[in-house]
Amino acid sequence: MTTNSPVPKIAAPEEWVSAEGMLRHAQHILAISHVNPDGDAIGSLLGFTLAMRAIGKTVTPCLQDAPSSRFGYISGFHDIKRTAQGEVDLLVSLDASDLQRLGSVFEPGMHGRKPMVVFDHHITNTLFGSVNVIEPGKASTAEIVYKLVRRMDIRLSPEIAVALLTGLVTDTLAFRTSNVTPDTLACATDLMSAGASLTEITRQALVLQPFERIKFHAAGVATAKVEAGVIYAVLSRKLRKEQGYEERGDAGLVGTLITAEEASVAAVFSETDDGKVEISLRSMPGFDVSQVALELGGGGHPAAAGCTVAGPMRTAVHHVLPMLKRIVAKT
Ligand code: AMP
Ligand code: MN
Ligand code: MN
Repeated sequence: MTTNSPVPKIAAPEEWVSAEGMLRHAQHILAISHVNPDGDAIGSLLGFTLAMRAIGKTVTPCLQDAPSSRFGYISGFHDIKRTAQGEVDLLVSLDASDLQRLGSVFEPGMHGRKPMVVFDHHITNTLFGSVNVIEPGKASTAEIVYKLVRRMDIRLSPEIAVALLTGLVTDTLAFRTSNVTPDTLACATDLMSAGASLTEITRQALVLQPFERIKFHAAGVATAKVEAGVIYAVLSRKLRKEQGYEERGDAGLVGTLITAEEASVAAVFSETDDGKVEISLRSMPGFDVSQVALELGGGGHPAAAGCTVAGPMRTAVHHVLPMLKRIVAKT
């Protein structure tokens, strides 16, 4: 299937059966999620790891970039490795839409010939696994792992529930995104019944933040402009330095910008240490930013997508802004 053909909302039953068979036969699994990991990357990675360990598998969870310490309450958090070690017989990718998103953890020489199961919910998934369980109808990859746990009759322990509810709460911004369905809420209900605290998870994973991040966020808002239905902000290295803010990412800025009544599309352009430009995109219901992200070498969902393009900043903004304005004009 190409990324241009319509993607079914639910993975084919054969994909599920193949994935389960591969997991049952595996002994040592390398579980990987995407670079610059968010709550769904970490939650689905650890939920999967705990579930597979519960049925006797040896699992190494691995991420190229250090996960934020705010997720330290999830069991297994301190077992996450930064590079793959030892012999594995199966690779499992979670919440990544293409192979590049796994970063340096995937080493072609060592892993290129190993079977790989991909669990993901991005509509732009490039189907890079031997078996691909892709459900773009799901609001988080954590819900796909929940489905796996239920299908394989694995006990839903409180620890697994905490990991998975973290993925669900962070990717839906606490059930506020347009892809939340009755099934999302049913999954959350079951995870809460299994022992996960919605209040605590929401507070730890979504609400609490360092004061420095709030200040950087405010400085970012001050750079924002609205043009032809597109609101955008520019986070230069200079601004980051002036504000003394060392963390990667946009400090949640794009989520604030898309609340502007005057805009249908929001973008944050962040300059990285090596001079590239990371772009975070959001849209109001009815507007799709995933295809522009895909065209620019990234991916995502209709309402939330991203990519990294070459610098300098001025050129990146000049190139991408008209593409975003066209989404608004066309819709
Ligand atoms: P973010 O703006 O970083 O929160 O990302 C929004 C969505 O776009 C998430 O689902 C990401 O997985 C996806 N995304 C962000 N950056 C990229 C990228 N470089 N390549 C593919 N997908 C991306
Ligand atoms: Mn993610
Ligand atoms: Mn996700």
